Amino acid sequence: MIDSYGRKINYLRLSVTDRCNLRCQYCMPESGIEKIKHEEILSLEEIDAIVGTFAKMGIDKIRLTGGEPLVRNGIVTLIEKIKSHPEIKELALTTNGLMLKAMAQDLKNAGLDRVNISVDSLKADKYSDMTRGGKLEDLLAGIEEAKRVGLTPIKLNVVLIGGFNDDEIADFVALTKDEAIDVRFIELMPIGEVARWSKSNFLTNQTVLERVPELKAVKATDPSSPAKYYKLPNGKGKVGLISPITCKFCEDCNRIRLTPEGKLKYCLHSDEEFDLKKALEDGLDLEDYIIKSILNKPKEHSLENGEFIIRNMVQIGG
Ligand code: SAM
Ligand code: SF4
Repeated sequence: MIDSYGRKINYLRLSVTDRCNLRCQYCMPESGIEKIKHEEILSLEEIDAIVGTFAKMGIDKIRLTGGEPLVRNGIVTLIEKIKSHPEIKELALTTNGLMLKAMAQDLKNAGLDRVNISVDSLKADKYSDMTRGGKLEDLLAGIEEAKRVGLTPIKLNVVLIGGFNDDEIADFVALTKDEAIDVRFIELMPIGEVARWSKSNFLTNQTVLERVPELKAVKATDPSSPAKYYKLPNGKGKVGLISPITCKFCEDCNRIRLTPEGKLKYCLHSDEEFDLKKALEDGLDLEDYIIKSILNKPKEHSLENGEFIIRNMVQIGG
């Protein structure tokens, strides 16, 4: 699948639910979000049909996300179904990690290759505060279990928030010293709730390099990865900086997104969506419909111009 600007699209971020067992302050309002009705959410069979079409069209990498993908009923079965398409070479999942202790082995057995786990503080009280109730000990137990069963290489995602976790930058970086684990800092995006936050909460990823000057840039192994990688001297793991605000990676963007209700999004930062569930129900030629949608993918996004999108990450799929 090639878009209008010659970019090869081979990566699908598939959001399987808008539900979550946490309420992270930067992702959801305290009261939660208006949930998508059950009948509007794609069934496992519909997801499988859409994935099958995408696979034939050149998608070979899929990341399951949400909401919290592990709260979706039938997630293990879905992983088995997706992995039965031989074109899908890599199947990963982004999770808050809380349910991994119980589920990691089943996920691995079903064919999941690896996990990215979100961890925004290494201090139990701060973690609980930012996630509105999450227990750090459950998260750490989940990370250990994911390692044990081989859902590796594991990447830890940290959303960098001024006045909240910038005092822990060195602690996060230190995790990469003795273990082959990647820690990736993500710039806070002014999406949904966060559009109203104070400017002081937004830090650029340059802050990481200023606080830990020993970090040295390393060569990218995957040019389509949005992360720029660094290493501590003799560090076993890497430190990734994902900078959607200060550093655009639109030029090499190879990804599209599917929301839980089957809306295809060609860019996280655009409100334009194409209804694949309806196309499927109306018996349209899905391949043709997808190609026409993809051709709308813009050259680049315009977040830094102050064009904030309204939906929260949990509704779009992070
Ligand atoms: N529940 C899973 C999790 O937390 O990893 C998967 C979904 S979550 C929406 C995906 C990622 O988006 C998480 O790493 C989360 O920290 C990140 N995220 C959510 N809102 C964000 C924002 N406003 N700016 C930057 N990252 C955000
Ligand atoms: Fe849930 Fe993930 Fe959003 Fe936190 S970031 S509320 S864990 S979907």
